[in-house]
Amino acid sequence: MSASSRRPKCRSLRVQHFGRRLKHTLCGRNEGGNLVAPYNMSFACLDCRKSFKREFLLSMGCPKQMSCPDCGSPAYNFGRHFKAPKKTDIKQWKKVRFLFEHGFWFQRIYDKANRYQIIEYPKTMEGAREFVEAYKEYAIK
Ligand SMILES: [Zn+2]
Repeated sequence: MSASSRRPKCRSLRVQHFGRRLKHTLCGRNEGGNLVAPYNMSFACLDCRKSFKREFLLSMGCPKQMSCPDCGSPAYNFGRHFKAPKKTDIKQWKKVRFLFEHGFWFQRIYDKANRYQIIEYPKTMEGAREFVEAYKEYAIK
């Protein structure tokens, strides 16, 4: 039996614009059939107030945005650490949008004094206003 016929089936992932080859590598195996762990990235649509996850191999790169499967608007890649608020929690989604518009895509931010200390993202809108000011040098432009 050849190695390729023994390869397990890919999990179905809706990443159409990537083409077949990448689609296949997204099953978590590289061209040689070796396992490579994919990263689970959260994408969020600020219009629908909804987030969904997609797996990517970092070596292949991941898109900064995809189309929301529900409304087709951009859904932004908020990375591995984003925890979406409930759909009904309008206040929290406003805060998410505010952070995003100021260049905070839920990327990790480390304390300057202690580079191992991860700065927590703000829980409230008031906190977010202070946060974007305090850490503006980390903002994605
Ligand atoms: Zn949407």
